[in-house]
Amino acid sequence: MNVVRITPRGYCHGVVDAIRIAKRIAEEHQDDRVPIYMLGYLVHNEHVTAELESFGVQLIDAASRLDGLDAISEGIVIFTAHGVSPAVIEKAREKGLTIIDATCSDVTRTHDLIDRLSAEGYTVIYIGKRGHPEPEGSIGHAKGPVYLVEDRADIEALDIAQTAHIAVTCQTTLSVWDTSELIGLLEKRFPDIEVFNEICLATQQRQEAAVAAAAAVESVVVVGSPRSSNSRRLVQVVEERAKTPAHLVDTVEDIRPEWFTGMTTVGVTSGASTPTHLTREVITFLEELEPPRQEN
Ligand code: SF4
Repeated sequence: MNVVRITPRGYCHGVVDAIRIAKRIAEEHQDDRVPIYMLGYLVHNEHVTAELESFGVQLIDAASRLDGLDAISEGIVIFTAHGVSPAVIEKAREKGLTIIDATCSDVTRTHDLIDRLSAEGYTVIYIGKRGHPEPEGSIGHAKGPVYLVEDRADIEALDIAQTAHIAVTCQTTLSVWDTSELIGLLEKRFPDIEVFNEICLATQQRQEAAVAAAAAVESVVVVGSPRSSNSRRLVQVVEERAKTPAHLVDTVEDIRPEWFTGMTTVGVTSGASTPTHLTREVITFLEELEPPRQEN
């Protein structure tokens, strides 16, 4: 098949930094017995996690970051690229753990923003996905009223006085288009709301490139983990914006040739936490693939 390599794709600066930090800590402690833990998936990709575990960095996978700390009694704890709330930092300190913070600088910027808005008395509306660690950490920074909204129904259910000072911000890896639609609804409902769209540049560029490229191909393959919010969003925006079929694959093993029946051209992109070699293997496989012919 003809394969269009969509760019930019793959690792973003936040993921590169987090992996570099975790590997450096593992290297510095390879000869001592200090236990090293990552509090949740350092980045949302099982292959990256497995590699770090092979270097001695143990994964703590719990329902929340606070719960995860219950499983650690000593040693070093690495906070993941998604960031944590002040309550998690405080609990880690109380337990006497050595903290290594691998939070992405773009997420830290949202934390600083929420700190400031709270200090200035704003009611904060945060657009994000329930159960994801980034909203958990970011919302935890609010010292005043804060509301997590995921969709239109959540916005309709908001019970906030029009007289309140209201600001809206969001998770860094959401769909650019969904988020601007939700912000538009909030602006209608609260005309004086202040908007701080915090979708990161890496997410925005990958989504825009995928949607633009999808118009010229018959299908798009997104290489990434089902855990990865930004990878799932790439599939979503290609399907919704370009109306092109899209498939999320963790590795080349997940590809099913029948997806490409009768097709000649496919686009390939990858999430911000996907190792480059996995994408390269997918591209090579698709280049060599002869898809099934369309039955007449
Ligand atoms: S996707 Fe964006 S916010 Fe998340 S780690 Fe990468 S640069 Fe940072």
